[in-house]
Amino acid sequence: MNTYFNFDNSYRQLSTDFYDLAELNPVSDPAILILNEKLANQLGLDIQTLKSSAEELAGSKKFPHSEPLAQAYAGHQFGNFTMLGDGRAVLLGEHVTPDGTRYDIQLKGSGRTAFSRMGDGRAPLAPMLREYLISEAMHALGIPTTRSLAVTATGDTVRRETELPGAVLTRIASSHIRVGTFEYAVRQGIVKELADYAINRHYPELAASSTKYIDFLYAVIDHQAALIAKWQSIGFIHGVMNTDNMTVSGETIDYGPCAFMDSFDRATVFSSIDRGGRYAYNNQPGIGQWNLARFAESLIPLFGQETDAAIETAKDALTYYETQFDQYWLSAMAAKIGIQTPQTEDRELIGELLSVMEDLELDFTRTFRKLSLQQPVDSALDDWKKRWQKRITTEDAPYELMKKVNPAIIPRNHHVEKAVNSSDLTFFNELLTQLEHPYSDDHPELYLTPPEETDQVFQTYCG
Ligand code: AMP
Ligand code: MG
Ligand code: MG
Repeated sequence: MNTYFNFDNSYRQLSTDFYDLAELNPVSDPAILILNEKLANQLGLDIQTLKSSAEELAGSKKFPHSEPLAQAYAGHQFGNFTMLGDGRAVLLGEHVTPDGTRYDIQLKGSGRTAFSRMGDGRAPLAPMLREYLISEAMHALGIPTTRSLAVTATGDTVRRETELPGAVLTRIASSHIRVGTFEYAVRQGIVKELADYAINRHYPELAASSTKYIDFLYAVIDHQAALIAKWQSIGFIHGVMNTDNMTVSGETIDYGPCAFMDSFDRATVFSSIDRGGRYAYNNQPGIGQWNLARFAESLIPLFGQETDAAIETAKDALTYYETQFDQYWLSAMAAKIGIQTPQTEDRELIGELLSVMEDLELDFTRTFRKLSLQQPVDSALDDWKKRWQKRITTEDAPYELMKKVNPAIIPRNHHVEKAVNSSDLTFFNELLTQLEHPYSDDHPELYLTPPEETDQVFQTYCG
């Protein structure tokens, strides 16, 4: 057990082009609103110390051995290349847990940095609560994600369209190295340094390989293919799949305008800034590949091959993404209908179900959970059900499998909106508690039902 974070700041040892040391930006009246005690325990942190660290968690004061820095990165935002960096976040340091695992401890919303451009470096409370709730729900669903340790009110207001209460999120991540960090590094001529660092940190088993940079590309592609297949299987729409919001660790990052689908519609877009639907549900797998192409391009100088051969290597890797995504998607979707080892013919069965669900605008989560519980769904599915039930007679325990992969509860938009915009945290805490065990059936009905027409949320906003 450590009294404070057990900081060991390896990123700080990289060339100074990778970051800018950050000054503290004190706030008026810091107060911890939510503290993730379970996560704190897993990290080997002392709860009492954390509870009395509001100033540190709001960015007013340094934790011992913290060397706050803002990371430099770039990224393709909606397809356009931009130089970026932590404009409203600082990396406090890397905490090494008692079992030796390294995590970034980051503050989000802690004020201006060298990369803030025109921004204020701040965050309103509601979007920070939103990130806390959804990231923790994703974790409970078994989806790789950054975690949330705390939300701390600043006592100051932030100016958006109106004055809003400000807050700082404490985010925990395997690292914050993004595809965009590589796009930045290759342009600065420091991509080898970053690749070696990322391999040692995330894929140490590749460090001794004679083709380690190609292997690294394949490893990141595999993790992202697995991740995005999970998103698809659970109806999660990230909303801002810019290359700066895609990690090399394979964790979901940056919960801005993200949302879960209610009724199934492949064209679903929630984000108010995604007017062209670039990041619609059904585009996510393809955008993942597009982003990974930017990643592959950044690594090409390291392959040790002539340009033509290196381009072929990159192209092969992107084809590998398609195969991997397809496999991950098929196993995830097959498991949702109780099939452990899918056959080629099962694609048709899955496809037909999805088509009927889309035609009837059935609720994505509810439909799969009801099928898992052998409850009636809709008579339009009767034909399909007959064929399906015949198919699963050869499966061992199909309904048990289904109950493990089809959640009863997801963070539905109308609930999330209510939770993060209420005058107190009662509903937020209740919802959070329910979301911690998504595969059980003991949730109050309120949390399970899709929104009434009047409660439906069609648009989400960045903070
Ligand atoms: P996002 O769309 O959340 O991935 O953010 C894109 C970029 O904008 C990142 O580099 C952020 O650091 C920066 N950014 C977002 N909001 C602010 C803000 N309020 N002040 C300064 N920079 C910001
Ligand atoms: Mg971002
Ligand atoms: Mg964001």
